[in-house]
Amino acid sequence: RDSWMGRLKNGLRKTGSSIATVFTGTKIDEQLYEELEEALLMADTGVKATQHLLDDLRQRVKDSKTTDPAAVKELLASALADLLAPLEKPLVIGEHSPTVIMVAGVNGAGKTTSIGKLTKHLADAGQSVLLAAADTFRAAAREQLGVWATRNTVEIISQEGGDPAAVSFDAVTAGKARSKDVVLVDTAGRLPTQLHLMEELKKIKRVVTKADGSAPHEVLLVIDGNTGQNALNQVRAFDDALQLTGLIVTKLDGTAKGGVLAAIAQERPIPVYFIGVGEKVEDLETFSAKEFAQALLA
Ligand code: GDP
Repeated sequence: RDSWMGRLKNGLRKTGSSIATVFTGTKIDEQLYEELEEALLMADTGVKATQHLLDDLRQRVKDSKTTDPAAVKELLASALADLLAPLEKPLVIGEHSPTVIMVAGVNGAGKTTSIGKLTKHLADAGQSVLLAAADTFRAAAREQLGVWATRNTVEIISQEGGDPAAVSFDAVTAGKARSKDVVLVDTAGRLPTQLHLMEELKKIKRVVTKADGSAPHEVLLVIDGNTGQNALNQVRAFDDALQLTGLIVTKLDGTAKGGVLAAIAQERPIPVYFIGVGEKVEDLETFSAKEFAQALLA
């Protein structure tokens, strides 16, 4: 547990140290707030969330009547934790049989790795998982998913060059017939140029609902925490198209842009079910607003 917090802190250290250095002076003055604004923007906190945090912080400083910059840092940690709190929500499995989880994300975000980690996480918790390789356009994605399936001894529905929606439909149907606890649907992160990704994903979602009226129960987006405002743009676009229910934020072990979570909390407070803090299968952690805020300011 310490080790993942350590890695998170290490990853965020570039951000952290630049935010933390703002509080090393002796006075609480306008210069402090200006430097803080700059540091938050540098960490990809975005204009809106930065403004919100600064306003909130000024009020907290006023209320506390403190004159110590170090105390202001603690007040910022609380303000940040409060802003991030709505993102802290567990992924609930077991209300449906199976729970159908559709997973989206642009290529390179860490989607395949995250599905592998999630598969192990669920299998370790005693859940039976069925994987659906609905990224039928990318042979490597299908193969990689097959490796995760073998490693965790879970079944996989995969069809070379098949129709992604048909694979998804078959997987949900098979998941019901075989009484699986969870069906994880891996979708494409990029399509051959003449096709539209969002239309394809919407179609998968529709067809999954045809296979099971209440599904998908979760629509997750995997974003690379290292891409800052780009990640926020992806959240907007995928949420508009698919009505996301959760996020997995990867690569927080090596980023200077951790502020993007504050921007997401401000604009699209979608639960962050998991964070990725490394390439290994166990490097998947649940999100804690307070711990993240502390790591960001460490
Ligand atoms: P996909 O194209 O979205 O399926 O991305 P992949 O799952 O293939 O991941 C792309 C790269 O990111 C791989 O090299 C992964 O090992 C790496 N990666 C994924 N998640 C994490 C993470 O949390 N931390 C780090 N450091 N690397 C990660």
